[in-house]
Amino acid sequence: YRAWETKKVRTTCPHCGTGCQMNLVVKGNQLVGVEPANGPANRNLLCVKGKFASYKFVGAGDRLTEPLIKRNGIFEPATWDEALTLVADKFSQLKADYGADSLAGFSCSRSVNEDNYVFQKMVRAAFGTNNVDNCARVCHSASVHGLAHTLGSGAMTNPIADITTDVEVILLVGSNPTEAHPVVGAQIRQAIQNGAKVIVVDPRKIDLVKDSALHLQVKAGTNVAFANGMMHVILKEGLADRDFIENRTEGFEELERLVAEYTPEKVAEICHIDAEDLITAARMYAKADKAPIIYCLGVTEHSTGTEGVMSMSNIAMLVGKIGKQGCGVNPLRGQNNVQGACDMGCMPYDFPGYQKVANPEVIEKFEKAWNVSLSSKTGLTSTQVLPAATEGKIKGLYIFGEDPIVTDPDTNHVRKALENLDFFVVQELFMTETAAYADVVLPGISYAEKDGTFTNTERRVQRVRKAVEPRGEAREDYAIFCEVMTRLGYPCHYDSAEEIMEEIAEVIPTFGGITYERLEEEGLQWPCRSKEDSGTPIMHVEEFTRGKGLFMAIPYKKSRELPDDSYPYLMSTGRMLYHYNTRAMTGRTEGINKISNRSYIEINTVDADRLGIEEGDKVTVSSRRGTIETYAAVGDRVFPQEVFMTFHFPDGNVNELTIAEFDDIAIIPEYKVCAVNIAPV
Ligand code: SF4
Repeated sequence: YRAWETKKVRTTCPHCGTGCQMNLVVKGNQLVGVEPANGPANRNLLCVKGKFASYKFVGAGDRLTEPLIKRNGIFEPATWDEALTLVADKFSQLKADYGADSLAGFSCSRSVNEDNYVFQKMVRAAFGTNNVDNCARVCHSASVHGLAHTLGSGAMTNPIADITTDVEVILLVGSNPTEAHPVVGAQIRQAIQNGAKVIVVDPRKIDLVKDSALHLQVKAGTNVAFANGMMHVILKEGLADRDFIENRTEGFEELERLVAEYTPEKVAEICHIDAEDLITAARMYAKADKAPIIYCLGVTEHSTGTEGVMSMSNIAMLVGKIGKQGCGVNPLRGQNNVQGACDMGCMPYDFPGYQKVANPEVIEKFEKAWNVSLSSKTGLTSTQVLPAATEGKIKGLYIFGEDPIVTDPDTNHVRKALENLDFFVVQELFMTETAAYADVVLPGISYAEKDGTFTNTERRVQRVRKAVEPRGEAREDYAIFCEVMTRLGYPCHYDSAEEIMEEIAEVIPTFGGITYERLEEEGLQWPCRSKEDSGTPIMHVEEFTRGKGLFMAIPYKKSRELPDDSYPYLMSTGRMLYHYNTRAMTGRTEGINKISNRSYIEINTVDADRLGIEEGDKVTVSSRRGTIETYAAVGDRVFPQEVFMTFHFPDGNVNELTIAEFDDIAIIPEYKVCAVNIAPV
């Protein structure tokens, strides 16, 4: 493009939770490129997804541009009035026949805070139920629960810049930032060049292992044992911060009793690591002054996910590394606005700002604010809604910008659930695998066509700015929800996204000081309670959000499905560098597809030799849920008897194989461990 024919619009990357700032390059009503901008989380860096996959999909020829109604199994174009009236009539009828709790909604962690706020308001105020959730359920709900329980707030404690600059040791657990959060990964590499030592705790030889000081190649599903072993060593060697424990925490005695059992030798056996490496890791982490824990889905996506997260809090509190610069417990959130979708109350037990549905004062507050009577019954998580639909208890479902047919575990159980619904609405940019099951499909708009805010992984609320006009008849997402609400007898209207943020600031105390005007420069990190408050880069400085930090004594439990004679390989899943989740965005970028356009399974050379499989060979992979075909990637990234697949590709969709087993607290799926078999085709 010729620079003089274009304008630049500063906005926030629509992919991962790093929240990189960038300029969309606009020519006429078309996006023609992306340039990095100097944001607090990205310092002028962008990864391949931000730079090359953030604009082509916006103008893709297969965008949905008009409402669709399914008649006799075939989608037909409809007017907005027809489609919205049908949605409202059907949901009203189901509510009258089966009660408000027969309805549910999944909100979109990719869309702006303002849309998420209005979506949950629609489900609560107009549907009349708390059955609302977002995709944090399947990625970091364990962080929301685990950190809130132990520290009082379910969010990253320190800023990205703080945990990658001037640190001595980084304890990186179940996180592959080079591929999943590449700009964070790049900043960790810079930290290594400046002398930081990284301890990688991961079942795979991820790229950062090459530059790390130590790699503990733990068996997938053994994080709790690893953490207990670390704490055993720290206590035995007198490296715990006794003042911090005494003054700022509770529950220590029980923890001390429990971790006494987790000797390095016992933990080495459970985790398949070297006892000496565990001792070295504990010493390195405990002795460093500035040593953050950074973790990701390798900790959360287990049947013990919440316990894994609480274990991360335990380790940091034991050595007093919370509430300080260059320390803390830091989950890297996956989607660009998954933190925001949670903050906005798209969860079945929390109103906006984590204000509890179970608290009568909270109900009273929102009834007054929204001028409506609200349900005080805790709703179902998205992972509970699907089985409830199969059982006929959930009759009507509204999904905004999520694709559970591809993303949820055990695809068959998702198919059964969606097929059993009486009425199903999907609001989307594209005709996704999930939208194909809908009765009505409503065309929403992309991040580049709207104003609003995203909240990145470090709690920083940043602006999203409209760069181009929507395509066809596609409409502003919050305006669609308002139309549905109005037709359901709860009139609702906003003139702008900014007006919604003003309401958010009124009802969420930790957003009290956030205005669009104040977000112009670097955004603001919540809590930001008043116009005088400049936000909170580091949490839990003087005291924890819950008062005292709570140690949790957690015994190690095995994963729900382990390899056996029929399914002898342990399979984990995760993200790769070039693609993002269901590839709705990256899959529409030609250059990226040229580099990576098919699924693959990482398999150790020892296993491949035994099975007669070579690099690039087609193989079948089966579990108790199904069988898929994919291609072998042979090497030593995974341990023998362990395999790894990404979840991005509909051909060889790994979720046909994963197991619908869940953590008991956060109800998060165990994507990281299931048993499979492999055979050459
Ligand atoms: Fe976008 Fe994440 Fe890449 Fe930054 S690191 S450019 S937010 S995908």
